[in-house]
Amino acid sequence: MNTVVNDQKVRRQLMLIGGEWVPAASGETIAVENPGRRQIIATVPRGGAEDVDLAVKKAHAAFASWKRTPPRERGRLLQTIAEKIEAEHENLARQVAEETGNALRTQARPEIKIAADIFRYFGGLASELKGETLPLGHDLLSFTQREPLGVVAAVIPWNAPFLLASLKIAPALCAGNTVVMKTAEDAPLAVLELAKICSDVLPSGTLSMLSGTGQECGAPLLNHPLVAKLSFTGSTAVGKLVMEAAAKRVLPVSLELGGKSPSIVYPDATDDWVIEGLVAAMRFTRQSQSCTAGSRLFLHRKIYDNVLERLVEATSKLRVGDPLAEESDVGAIINERQYNKVCGYIEDGMKQSGSKLLCGGHPRDDKSLGDGYYLRPTIFAQGTNDWRLAREEIFGPVLVAIPWEDEDDVIRMANDSHYGLAAYVWTHDIGKALRAARDIESGWVQVNQGGGQMPGHSYGGYKQSGLGREFSLAAMLDSFTQTKNITVNLVR
Ligand code: NAD
Repeated sequence: MNTVVNDQKVRRQLMLIGGEWVPAASGETIAVENPGRRQIIATVPRGGAEDVDLAVKKAHAAFASWKRTPPRERGRLLQTIAEKIEAEHENLARQVAEETGNALRTQARPEIKIAADIFRYFGGLASELKGETLPLGHDLLSFTQREPLGVVAAVIPWNAPFLLASLKIAPALCAGNTVVMKTAEDAPLAVLELAKICSDVLPSGTLSMLSGTGQECGAPLLNHPLVAKLSFTGSTAVGKLVMEAAAKRVLPVSLELGGKSPSIVYPDATDDWVIEGLVAAMRFTRQSQSCTAGSRLFLHRKIYDNVLERLVEATSKLRVGDPLAEESDVGAIINERQYNKVCGYIEDGMKQSGSKLLCGGHPRDDKSLGDGYYLRPTIFAQGTNDWRLAREEIFGPVLVAIPWEDEDDVIRMANDSHYGLAAYVWTHDIGKALRAARDIESGWVQVNQGGGQMPGHSYGGYKQSGLGREFSLAAMLDSFTQTKNITVNLVR
């Protein structure tokens, strides 16, 4: 991570603490790179414990009046934020593409659109923060009410930063909490723009947005004594540290973690839309830097060669290039470390006995790729479920195709993972589809489609893919409120 940059063209971005745009107390910065061009484009403050302390104290002070703001008014403000995001749509999308390497047309624009939808959706749910009356006895009035928790500490990754930030900010604020968020080191800029939009609408201190590293800024935030709830999206390894921090103070915690999702194709599913769906499910157009990528492809042996041949043909049509170029379908890997890591997996796949590289491969063998961290969609055939490539989350465009014959056997292989985030099933037979959906140990199973999450959908992981849900009303209630029961004796 480059921290000293002396270039006039590099933008110097500040962070938001309690309504003020400030540098880090230490004065230090972090450089942000455009991975498509390997150029430093901005610096952001390298926030630390002192900055965290100030932001949390401001959020704690702001909570007193924000929780008393009528829910419909909070919802109205969130809907105003949605309108402002829409008004800034193109600039925000370009910012996301520039810093994440995600292609503007296929990824960044849709990401901003869904983020606006999320603010609008949760804004409309404000009056659903309802309790229940409980029939405890004729002379007792017993009811529950939903109350906010207080200051939410939120930490997000870089792969879809604007969407993931919105997914935490909108429901947490709607429910009456205040939020201190830490952006990801690699992609803080668009999220800081989101903070600007929010701060123009919200009371000061309601949302603070910090930039900094996980250790220096994320850890003090998660461990701050005035924080009442931890909400984390990122790797399973860091998720375990977040859970430890929560355990120390018995705090509620939500974790959206990694995945290694299976995609199971039955022998009757050879239509063109299946091929398109497999490409979408693998998230090749986001360089497969997606927690829900269907990266373990279980193809029935009868259709194995046919489907793979057409899948290779479809992926080879994807244009890999500058994320900001309109014609690019696929952009760049986020940074050099991740690029080298994915290349290591490709080398590993090439060394596996019996493996067959069908497309893509190591970028050193491909001179037509540009100077950024570019990789072509890579498919290995004749894989087995015990390959390292089939067990570990690569977070890059590397797909392993594994043949199967027996239904019980393929479900067993699909479930043989410590992850359980998403899964895809492809068949015309509704009985088979529903049996597979029932038996797969994942928080989200899609049948005959490979799309992304939508507002209203209850989304989250089984096993080590996470705890808690996002995207839905139930998720907002479970993740960002606590229930109080009040019981009144009517005859005393
Ligand atoms: P990461 O866990 O390395 O980092 C995520 C965030 O945690 C960053 O902001 C980082 O600075 C912070 N962090 C790191 N160490 C920390 C610490 N000790 N204390 C506090 N904060 C710390 O993950 P990443 O590489 O940025 O993102 C990729 C991972 O995120 C993948 O595993 C992916 O599957 C997962 N992810 C999950 C979902 C989901 O919805 N389940 C969505 C997107 C990404």
